[in-house]
Amino acid sequence: MNCIFCKIAAGEIPSDKVYEDDRLVAFNDINPQTRVHALVVPKEHIAGAAALTEDHAEIMGRLWTAIPKIAALLGVSEAFKVSVNSGADAGQTVFHLHFHLQSP
Ligand code: 5GP
Ligand code: ZN
Repeated sequence: MNCIFCKIAAGEIPSDKVYEDDRLVAFNDINPQTRVHALVVPKEHIAGAAALTEDHAEIMGRLWTAIPKIAALLGVSEAFKVSVNSGADAGQTVFHLHFHLQSP
């Protein structure tokens, strides 16, 4: 599949990774909008939040419970924001599910 985040997750395209485990990866956004701006991404391809089903309950739990760990690694435990853009009209430009994890 010609998906940039699949390739980053697989290590086929370089990225500035800040966290990785068996199911997910987090890396710094190439065009940060805030001082800290990372993307938290499942290794499996999911097109976006609108494509989520009950089958994704486990990976969604893994993603969300990794977020405070990643926030700690990035030094923003005291204050951070998490956002998802779903659909082109909402600003989604990469159609592989990702959470923006940002400093305020
Ligand atoms: P979206 O607009 O889909 O919510 O977010 C996509 C994000 O991915 C954008 O903030 C954009 O800067 C980032 N991005 C796009 N391509 C790359 C890339 O190749 N590497 C990294 N690290 N970030 C990327
Ligand atoms: Zn993908």
